[in-house]
Amino acid sequence: MHILVSNDDGINAPGIAALAAAMLPFGQVTVIAPKENRSAIGHRKTMHKPLRIDPVPFPVEGVRAYATSETPSDSVAVALLGFVKDPIDLVVSGINRGANMGQDLTYSGTVSAAFEAVIWHKPAIAFSLVDHSENADYSAAAAIARQIVALGLYRDLPPLTLLNVNVPALPLEQIKGFKVVRQGLRTYNDTLITRIDPYGRPYYWIGGEAPSGDTTEEGTDLWATHNGYVSLTPIHLDMTNYAMMRQLQGRGIESLKPGEIPSQT
Ligand code: MN
Repeated sequence: MHILVSNDDGINAPGIAALAAAMLPFGQVTVIAPKENRSAIGHRKTMHKPLRIDPVPFPVEGVRAYATSETPSDSVAVALLGFVKDPIDLVVSGINRGANMGQDLTYSGTVSAAFEAVIWHKPAIAFSLVDHSENADYSAAAAIARQIVALGLYRDLPPLTLLNVNVPALPLEQIKGFKVVRQGLRTYNDTLITRIDPYGRPYYWIGGEAPSGDTTEEGTDLWATHNGYVSLTPIHLDMTNYAMMRQLQGRGIESLKPGEIPSQT
């Protein structure tokens, strides 16, 4: 088996080394990731400048590694579009420094790398550790990643579906098990910080406390990891709200002529 490993924390992040090492027992491992930290870059595709890809030394023996000049999504795309010659069986992304739960998924470069893989019809799993500290320990999350790949769950993923995995920040023996859950509800505690530059012009930071969220609603990723479980969430690229479709159709919009505004709205 040939596994492609990417991330958004950058090729030098400890989480990607831990994940690549965890994948090595399954066969061949190729690492391709942004040369710098691209966290919260979402699913950005580089279209207006060239991409550079350089072979780089990597701390895991037996792993070929490349750093790209741009995004996690670009890294996976170039690999799957022919830069990596050997056929790829599975794409894994992470292990991210910090959780990717709830609405985080739309910001996440880690999850977007996995999205890019499923767009190109490759099974993909995103792994995140619910610990944002500099000295986070990735060993338990790496063992969980190895276990999940060994179980072969990725073989059951339908088209356009990835598996999103969050591992609580606990030693392996203290992790209680696995919960298959939906996305929970994040609360972002962002604030707009306004300052003045040396030339008198205002500039802005989006800053503030780390995101929190609802850990009490049972059956969500936030609830599972808060209670010491690994969360497993299948994520579909179809973001359609089907219930709302029926509601919109019920409003009669489909029988209107273009430009027609009914008198009673
Ligand atoms: Mn990240």
